[in-house]
Amino acid sequence: MVQTLVNTRELLEHRDDLSTPAGLVAWAESEGLPCPARPTEADLTRMRRFREALRQFLGNAEGAASVLNGELARTGTRPLLRAGPPAADFIGDATTPLDTAITRVLAAVVTTSLDGSLRRLKTCAAEDCLWAFYDRSPNAVSRWCETSVCGARHKMRAYRARQAAGRTAD
Ligand SMILES: [Zn+2]
Repeated sequence: MVQTLVNTRELLEHRDDLSTPAGLVAWAESEGLPCPARPTEADLTRMRRFREALRQFLGNAEGAASVLNGELARTGTRPLLRAGPPAADFIGDATTPLDTAITRVLAAVVTTSLDGSLRRLKTCAAEDCLWAFYDRSPNAVSRWCETSVCGARHKMRAYRARQAAGRTAD
């Protein structure tokens, strides 16, 4: 979810799925997240800002956490313990579907930070790429998303295929 959100923008291809309301709805549907039926310009701007903060956060950039912490506060995202069987979950004070979607993404960021898997979710070191990829190398030392010119076209095809598969399943 975090990875697909960051990768709604593909720098190498000058593509940004969050440039249109339909693109935001499509991403949210593909992740099973709530979304306004007709996202406003403000919704799109908020999601793009959130997405770029996530990208910078994954790239260890200074200051990126402040935008994310701001969304934690805005959405009231916080942990909640539940009884029988004991479980931890995240809740928020959502007033819009977009708040709920952002709460779910933030919950994923927090839980994967705590279990250590987030450190394998990286952004490509190529400055014109910055694609988010999951580093499966034994010591988590990969710096680039693919070995050959970032494999941008391959990834775009894969992303489009997943979107198409999601639509078919609806
Ligand atoms: Zn790359």
